[in-house]
Amino acid sequence: MADSSDAEPLSRQIRQHLASLKAAGVEWAPASATVPIKPAEPAPSAGPSSLFAEESLPRNTLDLDQRRQELTVLAQRVAGCMRCTELASTRTQTVFGVGSLLPDLCFVGEAPGAEEDARGEPFVGAAGQLLNRIISACGMKREDVYICNILRCRPPGNRTPLPDEAAHCREYLEQQLELVAPKFICCLGACASQNLLNTTQSISRMRGRFHDYRGIPVLCTFHPSYLLHNPAAKKDVWEDMKRLLSRMGKPIPAH
Ligand code: SF4
Repeated sequence: MADSSDAEPLSRQIRQHLASLKAAGVEWAPASATVPIKPAEPAPSAGPSSLFAEESLPRNTLDLDQRRQELTVLAQRVAGCMRCTELASTRTQTVFGVGSLLPDLCFVGEAPGAEEDARGEPFVGAAGQLLNRIISACGMKREDVYICNILRCRPPGNRTPLPDEAAHCREYLEQQLELVAPKFICCLGACASQNLLNTTQSISRMRGRFHDYRGIPVLCTFHPSYLLHNPAAKKDVWEDMKRLLSRMGKPIPAH
């Protein structure tokens, strides 16, 4: 019989896993969804981790149910991930991703903050409210897009993700993007832009033009949390959004 020191981590893992599935937008779950999470997997080496980093993604032919099922399995793996020792020991739960599983657009942010860590969903704090307003200004709803982060665990004190943490989580990001298969990606802030695109360029240099992630056009703009402290930069973000909407073939709402 398990003693109390064993029972608590197990129940925490199960709660964490179910919360991650919900945050992933998963309504369907396999029978195995409530079994204990697999033990920690070995971490990949640091640095660009994709074997296909320079190749285009194969066309995703999965239908909605297949995407949901594959994402369920991936969210289950993420919920039990212990690759980043510090993050895994301090998180409340993993924060997988949320939104449409057939999106035209995916926003990629940096990492969960305190509210995201508590609720298991990305961009639900003050920066998330601002992101919702940006999405709305673009004529879309939050449910129309997919939202995820470079990291799936909150760095203590909301510090910037470390390079090895981003490298550890890269596999999950790549698989998520492959399964969700957005037509366009918008990176929010320097951390997301630099990590997704494997570059050290500043966000100011990356703004204003399209980049490529495995055949998907990528636009980089400022993170909403930056805008909370620098509201004058909102006009720059709106210029970026107009550029993105134009490339997507969508109308640009009056602003
Ligand atoms: S940040 Fe990513 S790689 Fe690191 S422990 Fe969390 S899920 Fe695992």
